[in-house]
Amino acid sequence: MLSFTEIQDYFRKNYETVVYDFALTNSLRGPTYISGRIQKCRFCLTDIEASDQQKKHAISEFLGNEKVYLRQECRACNPQLSVFESSFARYLMFERSLAQIKGKKGIPKFESTNSQFWVSPYDKGIEVGYGKTADFTVNHEKREVKLTAERPRYIPFDIHLSLLKYALSLMPERRLPPFEQSRLFIRRYGVGSSLKPVMFESQIMPVRKAPLVRLLFRRPNSIDMRVPYAQIILDVARYRFQTFIPSTQERARNLELVPYMTEHQTPPEAKDLSSKTERTGEKVPFTFQYFGPVFFPKPPPGFRNGG
Ligand SMILES: [Zn+2]
Repeated sequence: MLSFTEIQDYFRKNYETVVYDFALTNSLRGPTYISGRIQKCRFCLTDIEASDQQKKHAISEFLGNEKVYLRQECRACNPQLSVFESSFARYLMFERSLAQIKGKKGIPKFESTNSQFWVSPYDKGIEVGYGKTADFTVNHEKREVKLTAERPRYIPFDIHLSLLKYALSLMPERRLPPFEQSRLFIRRYGVGSSLKPVMFESQIMPVRKAPLVRLLFRRPNSIDMRVPYAQIILDVARYRFQTFIPSTQERARNLELVPYMTEHQTPPEAKDLSSKTERTGEKVPFTFQYFGPVFFPKPPPGFRNGG
């Protein structure tokens, strides 16, 4: 295990970073477009018609991207790619409610599939509710709730594709050519590829209401053969997701994904996202602190008024 300093050195030595801070772009007055001169879709390469004026978010609106758009996404690809992204939206469902991330229809309301846990926004914060058999504990002194929620159904592979889609959408146009493999991987739904979709997932503090995306590109002078050519790191809600972006520039088969770590983060967990089968009822342990008023519909076990 590398120390934080060694990790910082590793990334500084091997990568150039392009950062998109959506908290900043959301505060801008008007829409922002990812610049591009080529009038072709980044995902299927068909010509973008001048008549296609529909705005497409460069990364999903449900992540908290209000104003960044991509012109180089065609009318046909947009709904297809949205299907993958909806898996990711469900994967993040109660996290989006708890972090109060605004999507198209405001902050989403979340209800666990077994109805033992729900989160709903109201004008001054969020309301967290639980059922009789909910698996949770409350520590009033620490103002801390520990619970296990049930994640809505999602397809692991689609999460990987969503991350690759965001990478290709946000990438500066001149960087795109080596990523033909990523484009085909998305388009063919991974069919015919030996690529193993793996990502690191960890928890970060503070929670992010608007996403932060880092695109990392290997420096030309990087000498380590196992350094992947490009990576995407997405921070949103209480999560950090990291994966590499397939390209024609890899120099070795045994690529090494070093976790992008800071001290405000839990140790990353490597997740295999190769399954294309829907996953249901996944249990997610969760601890959160409450600061504002939190109303419990019924007093939780061990609760004393004013205690
Ligand atoms: Zn297209």
